Amino acid sequence: MAIRKVIGKDEELIRKKSKPVRDFDENLDQLLDDMWETMYAFDGMGLAAVQVGVLRRAFIIDVNGKKIEFINPEIYYTEGEWVEEEGCLSVGKFHGKVKRPYKIKVKAVDRYGDIFKLECEGWTAKCICHECDHLDGILFTDKLEKK
Ligand code: ZN
Repeated sequence: MAIRKVIGKDEELIRKKSKPVRDFDENLDQLLDDMWETMYAFDGMGLAAVQVGVLRRAFIIDVNGKKIEFINPEIYYTEGEWVEEEGCLSVGKFHGKVKRPYKIKVKAVDRYGDIFKLECEGWTAKCICHECDHLDGILFTDKLEKK
């Protein structure tokens, strides 16, 4: 495993749309393992592949010790909304309030290519929405609440 460089908000790549993961091979394992190490090194709650310079639809989250890897994720249901602060390893120290759905249903595949579905709310849902945005080149700073 290795700690990879996290790219910042001003780099062109962070705004690019990530492509679906097609190959569930040792390169993917290596990428995900490195992402875990990198996320913990920088004390993050979530990290998308694009943040370490890889334009593939994959991200990881650790919300209160619940560690999940999402590949080719799709949020297919949302309910409610809430506003709470977010931060991002690619943005730095700045935190700001963002409105997100309170509850979501998401489907994705794991690193072995097996499909799973997850229903979640609150911080877990927020974190997943934030990371899904990264896969489309969107940063939380694009969605800040005015007040
Ligand atoms: Zn982020």
